[in-house]
Amino acid sequence: MFGLIGHSTSFEAARRKALELGFDHIAEGDLDVWCSAPPQLVEHVEVTSLTGKTIQGAYIDSCFVPEMLSRFKTARRKVLNAMELAQKKGINITALGGFTSIIFENFNLLKHQTIRSTTLEWERFTTGNTHTAWVISRQVEINAPLLGIDLSKARVAVVGATGDIGSAVCRWLTQRTGIKELLMVARQQQPLNDLREELGGGRILSLDEALPEADVVVWVASMPRTLEIDADRLQNPCLMIDGGYPKNLDSRVAGEGGVHVLKGGIVEFGSDIGWTMMEIAEMEKPQRQMFACFAEAILLEFEACHTNFSWGRNNITLEKMDFIGAASMRHGFTTLNLQGQLQAAAA
Ligand code: NDP
Repeated sequence: MFGLIGHSTSFEAARRKALELGFDHIAEGDLDVWCSAPPQLVEHVEVTSLTGKTIQGAYIDSCFVPEMLSRFKTARRKVLNAMELAQKKGINITALGGFTSIIFENFNLLKHQTIRSTTLEWERFTTGNTHTAWVISRQVEINAPLLGIDLSKARVAVVGATGDIGSAVCRWLTQRTGIKELLMVARQQQPLNDLREELGGGRILSLDEALPEADVVVWVASMPRTLEIDADRLQNPCLMIDGGYPKNLDSRVAGEGGVHVLKGGIVEFGSDIGWTMMEIAEMEKPQRQMFACFAEAILLEFEACHTNFSWGRNNITLEKMDFIGAASMRHGFTTLNLQGQLQAAAA
């Protein structure tokens, strides 16, 4: 059985969903009530692979909402309690979705292995970042040519280059795709220097310097809401892959000049899955589309690979990306691409 731990995109959205599910007492509560609400296993699902194999899964809402991010102890408790519930339900492999993997890493939850009487077994959990990195890399390779961008002549900026996902995307783009030049953006200098040394190249730039030069921009950092992008200073065409969370780039630049924004790290399954959980995540086709990190748990269950496949920081190798990418295609996932948007624009 696979598990997905997620959360709503906002407090308001969470209250609406709770009302729909009949949790009226929580729905009507204020943020303090939500802070003490336990995680809920809200849905069981069944998924059948292209290979014919059928597996069972469950969605656990951690009852965390982004408004709790500044409440360190609450955020920590929410993630650990949801993990405890997943383990107690006997789930083999569970993906930490949305902010939960970031909270796990940034708040160093490895130090909190014991929750009440449960010792968390880390091999039952994955961040899902390997599949996310593979999907984003493939989205660059598939969609840049659709806009007439020849990647062998293109500069690709990765914003969040030193992160877990970002560094894996940088490895793939430089060693597999063969781009003209990698532009690396993050705030701290030392990890950037280390990454450049590991890759044997790439240019370190500030965001302001990188944007006007980039034919493709991969966003794999949670950027401040106040960020402003001047579309007139961007290349035309310019492909932007919005891989961060929350996904809010299109409201800033889409439709301006030659800028094309694609939601990054999203996959589509070949057939409808009878679940409602992706409505919470505001997917365009919630019956089929999901975050690639969630799909990683599904893939690991299909492959009977019950291990914390993506874990820690900067451990994602090209070999692991190959493995999860091949599984992704074999079991019926495709990456979200621009075709639909381009057809609509041409009509
Ligand atoms: P990490 O914390 O490992 O990496 C974050 C990276 O962003 C670091 O390089 C960090 O470097 C950089 N960064 C943070 N803030 C800024 C800023 N203001 N300007 C420039 N760089 C910045 O995160 P992950 O790799 O695990 O995740 C990256 C993003 O992907 C997150 O937003 C996450 O929510 C999202 N995600 C999306 C998924 C999906 O859509 N399927 C699945 C999983 C994650 P520094 O601190 O030095 O600036």
